Amino acid sequence: MQVITTECQTVEVKLTGNRKAVLLLLQQQQRPLSAYEIIDLLRPQIGRIIHPMLVYRCLDFLLEQHLVVKLVSVNKFMVLPEGATEPGQCLICERCQAVTFSQSSNPLQQQRRKIAASGFKLNQQPVEFHGICQACQKDDNK
Ligand SMILES: [Zn+2]
Repeated sequence: MQVITTECQTVEVKLTGNRKAVLLLLQQQQRPLSAYEIIDLLRPQIGRIIHPMLVYRCLDFLLEQHLVVKLVSVNKFMVLPEGATEPGQCLICERCQAVTFSQSSNPLQQQRRKIAASGFKLNQQPVEFHGICQACQKDDNK
């Protein structure tokens, strides 16, 4: 499974055991996970409890490398979709927790680029929208 883009392959080299384990887990899950969900899911893989501080440090590193984004409104972490160059915007379903990323250009993104160009270092956080996804709306109509 080739999930890490070419640009990031140099990053992969620097990934230590724990960082790599956290990234692989997020790639496998393809859904937002909290630090504590990550700890729970990694425990059987690694065979021991990982200290939350260690997971947060791994996540900080992955955030810096733009491999992972933080969804602030739900305090969870998720891999950036393949090919995505900026966090863009994400639609978070409040019912099934599904997250859809959208890279479509919008005034907010243009604003972000302008801010970045002015020299202010923005956090790599997507703009978050909450609502009900199409699948859950269909369930309502049954
Ligand atoms: Zn949903």
